[in-house]
Amino acid sequence: MEASLAAEAKALLTSARALLLELSEEGVEAIPRGSIRPAEAATAVPAAAAARVAPSAPAVATSPAAAQPSLLEAGPWPERPTLEEVRRVLGECRRCRLASGRTQIVFGDGSPDAELMFIGEGPGETEDQRGLPFVGRAGELLTQMIEKGLGIPRNAVYICNVVKCRPPNNRTPLADEVNACSPFLDGQIAAVAPRVIVALGKPAASRLLGRDVPITKVRGTWHEYRGIPLMPTFHPAFVLRQYTPENRRLVWEDLKAALARARGGA
Ligand code: URA
Repeated sequence: MEASLAAEAKALLTSARALLLELSEEGVEAIPRGSIRPAEAATAVPAAAAARVAPSAPAVATSPAAAQPSLLEAGPWPERPTLEEVRRVLGECRRCRLASGRTQIVFGDGSPDAELMFIGEGPGETEDQRGLPFVGRAGELLTQMIEKGLGIPRNAVYICNVVKCRPPNNRTPLADEVNACSPFLDGQIAAVAPRVIVALGKPAASRLLGRDVPITKVRGTWHEYRGIPLMPTFHPAFVLRQYTPENRRLVWEDLKAALARARGGA
């Protein structure tokens, strides 16, 4: 009992510290007294920060969470952490409910020095089984677009997801699951420091833009995430479902623009 209270307190502290770090990054210097009621505390953060708040959700934190390395123990990421450091802090994560349904964590794949970074939504069944992102049907299409389309080997780019564990029945990750994984996605981005990020589909684009975005409106347009040019495009699973010449052309245009920008072009 005492151990579980201590675990919960530790998870809460971890959460609070990460939230404060995020808020200070967003330029929030003070939170007026009484402006956040306890029930709102988990969601009452600026929109941009909301997309990347606390690493743990105390309500679902269990004692294994306390046993793993936390951001509190590791401190905030250095400016350029290594992927290994980020993976180590992630540990055998149980910070959200997705932990209970996964076969394994799907952290990421590819070059730590990639100029292009692709970010999807979350692992599917094949990814969950194999421990690698984008290795199922959608992954095959993505790999083809990278290798045959852009003419670069898949292992020259870096590929990961907003959440590292498979959501049940491949549903879209929920906000608290996205938030729980946020520090780790940010750690991966800081580690790879790509020249361009490609957000695959609405959940990835929404996470990186800090608001709910219609992918049909934002795809093909340039944005930024923490100073890195960001190109949202359709998710390959969507392209597979709606396999029209028009959708394939649009994704192709977006990927070509992303590569050109990464290589110093417009
Ligand atoms: N869809 C995703 O968003 N990510 C994967 O890794 C696989 C399918």
